[in-house]
Amino acid sequence: MTYQNADLHCHSVVSDGTLEPEALAARAKANGVDLWSLTDHDEIGGQARAIAAAHEQGMAYLTGTEISITFLNITVHMVGLGFDADNETLRSGLWRTRNGREARARDMAAQLLEVGIPGAYEGALKFVGNPELISRTHFARFLVESGVCSSTNEVFSRFLTEGKPGYVEHRWAALGEAVRWVRDAGGVAVLAHPARYKLTPNERYALFNDFKSHGGQGVEVVTGSHTAAEAIEYAAIAQEFGLMGSRGSDFHSPTEGNADLGSLPPLPATLTPIWAALQDRIHLP
Ligand code: AMP
Ligand code: MN
Ligand code: MN
Ligand code: MN
Repeated sequence: MTYQNADLHCHSVVSDGTLEPEALAARAKANGVDLWSLTDHDEIGGQARAIAAAHEQGMAYLTGTEISITFLNITVHMVGLGFDADNETLRSGLWRTRNGREARARDMAAQLLEVGIPGAYEGALKFVGNPELISRTHFARFLVESGVCSSTNEVFSRFLTEGKPGYVEHRWAALGEAVRWVRDAGGVAVLAHPARYKLTPNERYALFNDFKSHGGQGVEVVTGSHTAAEAIEYAAIAQEFGLMGSRGSDFHSPTEGNADLGSLPPLPATLTPIWAALQDRIHLP
């Protein structure tokens, strides 16, 4: 089976998206997606609903999650695809990765209070669908709603990022352990939106090299976070490291972000699509 419109990266209310898994499935289907994955941050609580909704829509489905990782003191993201969602190693690893978001959120709010923005914790919480998953996105929505910023993009340029008010350093999963959890559960590991990381050429080499040697198999080449030029650049890097290519919008909300579900250009033909290695992991409708 070949797929013309795979979208293997998006978020629901189970992490920092604004739509329920069923609404995402309907939107993906309406936009022509034929292979879909819901990849909530550090969480797989939405997977059963996503599989059922995908099948309701007649779409093939791969289990998914986007794991937060600390590599060389910077945060990078890795998408896990096609794993067994009941696997205990993966479940406990994700739980440990989520744990600590609550305390981090309180520290973020304390910093915002210092610059004259009260009530940020309670304000962010109003946007949270999963109490274990309060994220910067929820703070961003609060800062827009309360009129401090006019868009979430403005929020991330003025607040919540390194050196700005509301940024709290946090230690996430290690690269090797995150790859291991996903592989232990029968899935594949994909480095998410690599152009977004602020890395020197040496650091970038180290990231790809370590990821590959830990057993990582794919790179997100076509994503809502990449320009067309970045997709070409990372297609070449994927080939250099013998990694397959993945494609995903990183859709969060109809009113935020760059790309809608199923709306991205195809993967460059030079790359083996990651879903080719996952044929026996795909949940067919
Ligand atoms: P967290 O996992 O709590 O650190 O939140 C990370 C999330 O914040 C990402 O998954 C995005 O949804 C959002 N985010 C981070 N940086 C930006 C940005 N520059 N613009 C828009 N959203 C961002
Ligand atoms: Mn997000
Ligand atoms: Mn990400
Ligand atoms: Mn994402």
